[in-house]
Amino acid sequence: MPELPEVETVRRGLLPVMEGRRILRAEVNRPDLRWPLPERMAERLAGRRVAALRRRSKYILADLDGADVSGADLDGGETLLIHLGMSGRMLIAEAQVGVFHHALPAAEKHDHVVLTIEGGARITFNDARRFGMMDLWPTADLAAHPLLAGLGPEPFGNDFNETYLAERLRGRTMPVKAALLDQRIVAGLGNIYVCEALHDALISPERRVRDMTEAEIARLVPVIRDVLTRAIEAGGSSLRDYRQADGELGYFQHSFRVYGREGLPCLHPGCGGTVRRVVQSGRSSFFCPVCQR
Ligand SMILES: [Zn+2]
Repeated sequence: MPELPEVETVRRGLLPVMEGRRILRAEVNRPDLRWPLPERMAERLAGRRVAALRRRSKYILADLDGADVSGADLDGGETLLIHLGMSGRMLIAEAQVGVFHHALPAAEKHDHVVLTIEGGARITFNDARRFGMMDLWPTADLAAHPLLAGLGPEPFGNDFNETYLAERLRGRTMPVKAALLDQRIVAGLGNIYVCEALHDALISPERRVRDMTEAEIARLVPVIRDVLTRAIEAGGSSLRDYRQADGELGYFQHSFRVYGREGLPCLHPGCGGTVRRVVQSGRSSFFCPVCQR
């Protein structure tokens, strides 16, 4: 399942072919993904220019300007929200001598939405399991979108800082892992990077928040940013323009320091511990019982 760094690398891959360009045509090949797709989606996208391509949590947000190809302002700017779900993939094919190609066969079964972009790129959203979603929502009112309204601050945002986190966590009885997965406290963190951040911070995922010192809570903020930054940079350095050879965006070989390493030695120098896996709220936590307390 794509987490924040993967979504961010998809966004960065889309930037050069989408931002500032017009969507010439949209093919919408089914009525729904996880939820119904917006009404008249193809019509509402056609001719719109992507004024900005942003990310909020694990959502990619394409702000469309209000004018269509003829310059007529129809119904004000809307934003296209995209969530990759469990298996959603974005593919870019660029026209070369007038022919579109990517290494995957054309018109695959799960190519649900295909955007033809001014300047010669074709962007395909493929999602075999259909847990992904797309929606269109007025840009001016985006903060009220039901999927965005309850989200806490972005991990890279100024609002996510030591003081904020200490206030949100004070006196809470939940394990720290559950607190960091709570999207109302901080947006966009998932199982993998919470495990990685707690390992970096030398804090056990099972520690109760109320038993943590202020210093330990403060330590989480830079560690979370570091872990996410390293993962995004790994995507940037292992892929050309954030793309794989076949045009797929955003997924990359990334080595985790604790996640998925059950039974292997802890990578903290001199620790000598062995990584353990426990299940918390139905999800695997990987941690080193020697150095994470
Ligand atoms: Zn260790």
